[in-house]
Amino acid sequence: MKNSPLKTYLAEVSAEKINTAFVSYIANLEQVAQVGPEIAASIVKELEAQRTHLKLIASENYCSLNTQAAMGNLLTDKYAEGFPSHRYYGGCENIDDIESVAAEEAKALFGAEHAYVQPHSGADANLVAYWAILSAKIEAPVLEKLNETNLANLTDEQWADLRVSLGNQKLLGLDYYSGGHLTHGYRQNVSARMFDAHSYTVSKETGLLDYDAIEKQAMEIKPLILLTGYSAYPRAINFRRFREIADKCGAVLMVDMAHFAGLVAGKVFTGDEDPVKWADVVTTTTHKTLRGPRGAIVLCKAAFTDYVNKGCPLVLGGPLPHVMAAKAIAFKEARTPAYQDYAKSVRDNARILAAELQNLGMTIQTGGTDNHLMLINVTQFGLTGRQAETAMSECGMTLNRNSLPFDPNGAWWTSGLRIGTPAITTLGMGPAEMKEIARIIKLVLFASKPGKTDKGVASKGRVVVDEDAKTEAIAAVNALLGKFVLYPELDLEFLKKSFC
Ligand SMILES: *Cc1c(COP(=O)(O)O)cnc(C)c1O
Repeated sequence: MKNSPLKTYLAEVSAEKINTAFVSYIANLEQVAQVGPEIAASIVKELEAQRTHLKLIASENYCSLNTQAAMGNLLTDKYAEGFPSHRYYGGCENIDDIESVAAEEAKALFGAEHAYVQPHSGADANLVAYWAILSAKIEAPVLEKLNETNLANLTDEQWADLRVSLGNQKLLGLDYYSGGHLTHGYRQNVSARMFDAHSYTVSKETGLLDYDAIEKQAMEIKPLILLTGYSAYPRAINFRRFREIADKCGAVLMVDMAHFAGLVAGKVFTGDEDPVKWADVVTTTTHKTLRGPRGAIVLCKAAFTDYVNKGCPLVLGGPLPHVMAAKAIAFKEARTPAYQDYAKSVRDNARILAAELQNLGMTIQTGGTDNHLMLINVTQFGLTGRQAETAMSECGMTLNRNSLPFDPNGAWWTSGLRIGTPAITTLGMGPAEMKEIARIIKLVLFASKPGKTDKGVASKGRVVVDEDAKTEAIAAVNALLGKFVLYPELDLEFLKKSFC
């Protein structure tokens, strides 16, 4: 970097035309480039990659430049274990303010009785929730009997007894193949080892939740935690019905709304479909439909407040104050009418895209969607999900393969593609673009054939896409992205010239 890109920009542009978001981007990159020019270059190249690929990943989004700005600063330097006005470190007054604002904004956004905004990720938030529930329901009554409040004061014998009573508690969540998350009792995850984990599935015939069957299973198992909220279920969930089941079998009702929290925040899901109203404990990521920074939160009813607040030291170390600041900004953004319009468009777009894909001859799991995502069954094309994912990627579309319920191709190859509308809706796309995207997806899938390994045997991973179709699809994707530019405030050509 020979000259200062910031000085160059300011010299070139007239005062009225200075774009502050762009200025701050250049200034940031300039700082980064002084130490790691290759890192600054990668940031610019990632902007270019994001601008030139159609993002159909259901779990991703684009957070605002305001939210990004709140993350890149000295707040990262602070340790703040504990919670506001109850810290294990000195000098946390400003962090107290930031965390309190973020928590109050989250409570107001979701109508929650309590919000804990420290978890670093959705997986962490679920661990906080699990241990808060174990503490409240299993540990607290034991301590009360012993007339003790501090675990450190227990004798070794009392501690051993308590540990036995914590183990073997039952968790009942949705099976991974039916759309549940790894952290909901999947064997490869700690959740299946800290709990006696059980799972329900969707109906084999309809692909939908069968509430009566879940109730029957819950009455047999009598879980400590009944868990709902999923990663790959395209339909609305009746949380009032889940509340009834939990009450009947004596379970704590926990909802993991990581995927669809934006639709709750944007008032698309209300009444029976509002998890915060019905559940004891709700967890969510903040970076999916919600469109905030990478992170998570836990919401709960007042009875769980003291236990959830002990997320640190229970499972977390220090919080990330810079990310809590960014969460506060994102929650404020989500409390606007503009965000509610966005959330409605996310669902409208998903419905239009799913309907159009079906019109064009593709098979959509459950026949449609009520939320931001849908699953295409690609077996009709003789492809695995992995092959279909690669074919789409070669044509400029980023998405992920996903197993379908009872998937014969397993969790690695899979039979499905998961498609989501949160990111393309943030770009401003609407019904006409959904129809165009459906046309492009059809073009690619109908032009893809399973490939062969180097030894000439059929491969489950390799795919061959007809060259003409590929050229046409890439041109169509570029035409769309040319009209809906990511972060239009940022002049990519200037950034490339300056940092790459
Ligand atoms: C994405 C997701 C998570 C995990 O979030 P991370 O931030 O990746 O840890 C947890 N639960 C559900 C339902 C999810 O979809």
